Amino acid sequence: MRRVSIGPWVISADAETTQAIHSRLSAGEGEPCSCSECRNFFAVAEETYPAGAKALFRELGAEPLFVSEISHLGRGPDGKCGLVGWFHVVGTVEGPPPPVSHTHEGYPITDEFRVWAWADDMLAPELFRSHLLVQIEFSISVPWVLPESPPDE
Ligand SMILES: [Zn+2]
Repeated sequence: MRRVSIGPWVISADAETTQAIHSRLSAGEGEPCSCSECRNFFAVAEETYPAGAKALFRELGAEPLFVSEISHLGRGPDGKCGLVGWFHVVGTVEGPPPPVSHTHEGYPITDEFRVWAWADDMLAPELFRSHLLVQIEFSISVPWVLPESPPDE
């Protein structure tokens, strides 16, 4: 077990077990969503995630770009697509309950990328089912880069 802090949340992370599960899921045992908003997100995630977030997620044993689920929040005045995503890691968490207003109260890795953590297993992939889980959630805004129009236009 390894202790990892995310702002006020302290996670006892079983990084080895998480790593083993994430590498199986990233190798194709998960089912990525094929809607245009998700395809757009995955097209820009690698370059949009701040380096600090990737490093933090790796410390937890996670594949930085792996998600259990993404919730699309629509486009902001700047035309960017806001979203909240989450993934699971094996471990336990101490800290305050998750924020009520997700996009403003998480721990800011950068102004546009906030993270928070709590004990939950919402839509966790089957491979995680026998473990104690921490749900790591984040909010991010990404530009629209696909040649097709976004669904709200
Ligand atoms: Zn989707």
